Amino acid sequence: MVHRIVILGAGYAGTTAAGRLARRLHGDDVEITLVNAEPDFVERVRMHQLATGQHLRDRPLRDLLAGSGVTLRVARVTSVDVDHKVVTLDDASDLGYDTLVYALGSARDDHGVPGVFEHAQEVASRPGALRLRTRLRALAPGGRVVVVGGGLTGIEAASEIAESFEHLDVAIAVHGTFGDWLSPSGRRHLRGTFDRLGVTVHEHSAVTRVDAGSVTTGDGIILPADVTVWAAGFAVHPIAAASTLEVTDRGQIVVDETMRSVSHPDVYAVGDAAFAHTTVGTPMRMSCASGVPMSWQAADSIVARLTGGRLPRTPLTYVHQCISLGRRDALIQFVTPDDRARSFAPGGRLMARYKELVCVGAAWVVAHPVPYPVRRRRATSAAALVADPV
Ligand SMILES: Cc1cc2nc3c(=O)[nH]c(=O)nc-3n(C[C@H](O)[C@H](O)[C@H](O)COP(=O)(O)OP(=O)(O)OC[C@H]3O[C@@H](n4cnc5c(N)ncnc54)[C@H](O)[C@@H]3O)c2cc1C
Repeated sequence: MVHRIVILGAGYAGTTAAGRLARRLHGDDVEITLVNAEPDFVERVRMHQLATGQHLRDRPLRDLLAGSGVTLRVARVTSVDVDHKVVTLDDASDLGYDTLVYALGSARDDHGVPGVFEHAQEVASRPGALRLRTRLRALAPGGRVVVVGGGLTGIEAASEIAESFEHLDVAIAVHGTFGDWLSPSGRRHLRGTFDRLGVTVHEHSAVTRVDAGSVTTGDGIILPADVTVWAAGFAVHPIAAASTLEVTDRGQIVVDETMRSVSHPDVYAVGDAAFAHTTVGTPMRMSCASGVPMSWQAADSIVARLTGGRLPRTPLTYVHQCISLGRRDALIQFVTPDDRARSFAPGGRLMARYKELVCVGAAWVVAHPVPYPVRRRRATSAAALVADPV
C-alpha cells in the first residue's frame, strides 16, 4: 500500500523536507504532497530587500520540485484533524495522510498591542513587504519611518530602509538596550552603522500602541511615524493550537529530537511552527538557520522509520547570526552551539558579501535537499512509523 506523506507549508523547512523525502524514498512506496498557499517559494530572509524595492528572483515551486516526484497543491490549509488524519483546505477539499509534516511557518506577532494590524506595515510576508514598498515610495523627503523591534528583523529592516531611502527620517524603537545580546564588538559595530546611516535609536521604548501617524511607548512618549514597520517578533499560525496536538503557550508543536510530535507519532513539525531543542538542550529559535536542519532531521527520521534504518542525529546547533545592515555592511556575530554571543563579531563590506552568500546558500539548500547521490530506499512496513527502529 502506498504511504501518503503530506507536507504543509513550502517555506525553507517544508520544501526541504518534501524534496529530501522524495529523493530518499522509492516512488512506488510513497505519495508525497506539498501544500502551500502561494505558488512560489518565498525567500523570507530577503523580505526587507523586497520592501526597499530590490528585485528578487522568482522561484516557482513547480520548477523547484520538477522531476522530484512531489505533487504540489496550491491551497490554503484551514484546519488539521490529527485524530482522523485529515487536512482541510480552503477549496473545501480534504486531504488524508499517513504521515504529516507541519511546516506552516509564522507571521508577525502583534503581542496584543492595539493598532498593529490596522496601522503598521511588516516585512514578515511577501504581501506585507510589497505593501510596505508602496508606502515607502510614496513618502516625501523627511517622511518619518519608525521600525518597532530591535531583534534581527528590526535591525535588518531599519538599516535597509535607511540605506535605500536616504531622504527619509528613520528611527528604531527597541524594548531594552540596543543589541544587548551581541558581543561588545558586535554592539559597537551595530551602533556605528546606525550612526552612519542616520537611524535614531530609541532604547527602552516598548511600543504599547500604534496609531495612523504615530506610535506610543510605555512611558507615554509619542513618536511621530508616517510609516510604522512592526518587526517585534513572529507568531505561529493558530491551526496547530486548534487541533489536539500538544503545543506550547505560543502555539508551536512540541516535538522530540526526531521532530516527531510528542502527542501524535504520525505528525512531524519543522521550522518556525515547531518547538524543538538544540543538540545541547536549549530551545531552538525561529530562523531559517534552525528550520533547514530540523527538516533534514524530520525527513531522515521518517525515512528511517519507514525503511527500518537507523534514526539520524543531525547536529542542531548554531554557528553564527548573520545580520545584514543594508547592502554594503553586515555583522556576523559568532555564537556558541546554544546561540550565545562569542566575542568574535566581524562586520563591514566583506561580511555583507558573506551574508549574501549565506542567503544564496539557504535557497540552494532548499533546491538541493540531498546534495549527494543516494539510493532511494524501499519501505519495509508502515508499522515502522510508530515503532522506533534501533
Ligand atoms: C525580513 C526577515 C529576515 C530574516 N532573516 C533571517 C536570517 O538572516 N537568518 C535566519 O536564519 N532567519 C531569518 N529570518 C527568519 C526566517 O525567514 C524564518 O524563520 C523562516 O522563513 C522559517 O521557515 P519556515 O519554513 O518554518 O516558514 P516560512 O518560511 O514562513 O514558510 C511557511 C510556508 O507556509 C505557507 N503557509 C502559511 N500558512 C499557510 C496555510 N494556512 N496554508 C498553506 N500554506 C501556508 C507560507 O506561504 C510559506 O510558504 C528572517 C525573517 C524575515 C521576515
